[in-house]
Amino acid sequence: MKNGSPVTLGGSADFSLSPTLRQLSIDLFDRLRETSLDGVGVSRETYGASETAAFELIEHYARDFDLDVEWDSARNLIVRLPGTDPSQASVATGSHLDSVPEGGNFDGAAGVVAGLAALIDARERGTPLRSMQLYALRGEESAWFGGPCYFGSRALFGALKPEDFASPHRNGRKTLEDSMRESGADIDLLKRGDAILDPTRLACWFELHIEQGPVLIAREKPVGLVTGIRGNVRHRHVYCHGEAAHSGAVPRWLRHDAVLAMSDLLVRIDEHWRVLLEWGEDLVVTAGVVETNPAEHAVSRVPGEVTFALEYRSQDPKTLESFGALVQSECDQIGAKRGVQFDLGPQSFTESATMSPPLIGLLESICATHDVAHEVMPSGAGHDSSVFANAGVPSAMVFVRNDKGSHNPHEAMDFEDFFLATQILSEAMWHAANEQEDYRS
Ligand SMILES: [Zn+2]
Repeated sequence: MKNGSPVTLGGSADFSLSPTLRQLSIDLFDRLRETSLDGVGVSRETYGASETAAFELIEHYARDFDLDVEWDSARNLIVRLPGTDPSQASVATGSHLDSVPEGGNFDGAAGVVAGLAALIDARERGTPLRSMQLYALRGEESAWFGGPCYFGSRALFGALKPEDFASPHRNGRKTLEDSMRESGADIDLLKRGDAILDPTRLACWFELHIEQGPVLIAREKPVGLVTGIRGNVRHRHVYCHGEAAHSGAVPRWLRHDAVLAMSDLLVRIDEHWRVLLEWGEDLVVTAGVVETNPAEHAVSRVPGEVTFALEYRSQDPKTLESFGALVQSECDQIGAKRGVQFDLGPQSFTESATMSPPLIGLLESICATHDVAHEVMPSGAGHDSSVFANAGVPSAMVFVRNDKGSHNPHEAMDFEDFFLATQILSEAMWHAANEQEDYRS
């Protein structure tokens, strides 16, 4: 099956989530919020008690609906609806249950609530051929342990690194290993790098998630289908070294102004970005931190040094590579012209991920059949789905329109949009669980 080719679909004729599942979703979001209120927003701490409480809530609801429940060695929670043929690879969905500190209630949790609703919906339809699974995943957010993220999903594929375990908690009093141990994870197994899950045992993976940008609101569409997840290159401390000088006494031609050199660089980078977009490349660029040295900066001093952060993201690793070369070449040229030196410092790299064209095709067919306005779009934010896709599991994501951004308490997802996206997820999973399609081909 090719992207966009027609798929024969079954399912309910009116294509709306049942009243029972609507109420269940609203109740679950309410209970999740109650268990994790922090006075400002919600805080579900990676491998902390508040995250575990959310997991136990999902477990409780899953058991109430007679679904099988299992905790894996990384303390991810797996909810299962067994299929008639256990030899077949399963169809899976899921997302994370942690949040950033003082975050919103829908980031991550929406995918878990939707997944549970999809499994209950499937059981109402009958018994699928393939087993259907929901993964509630641990620790997706980077906010709690100083940068690294996707702990639960990477643990599934034996991809945690030794340095992950030593990551310090933001309170400075413990490490990720301490928190994992407290929540009952099998640290020895995880440290050996043993995979918990064989990726070939998953026929495909779906993740529903709120959109964390403004595109669906701007386009007035309730649902997005994700083509890929942008990888990124980050230089946290770019240093530009010029020469400090008296702002009144030194003329322009004798200056080596570090701030003007940085500004020159950022303007040139912005122009390259504009041109690359015109060529159809996918790219976003941000200099999110800029600082002169407070110990010596002054209104009357030509700045001799400036540090700044530079991050660029793209779905295409080749774009990241060629943009990196452009940045370096501009640093060299501006350095020569202005008599300054740029040092890009250490860089970190996060892999991009491509979503499965046949699965995007399946989702598009469902949207077309049921007349759902949708946007096909990249994901600028990282998600657990990138870990599944890069482990070789055919993956797809459904975005739900969401106002006021994410990683803040003001996330504003309309429940009607969520019900619609959940119905699309449920339909896609039911289809994939009853067909023999090999989404790997
Ligand atoms: Zn998320």
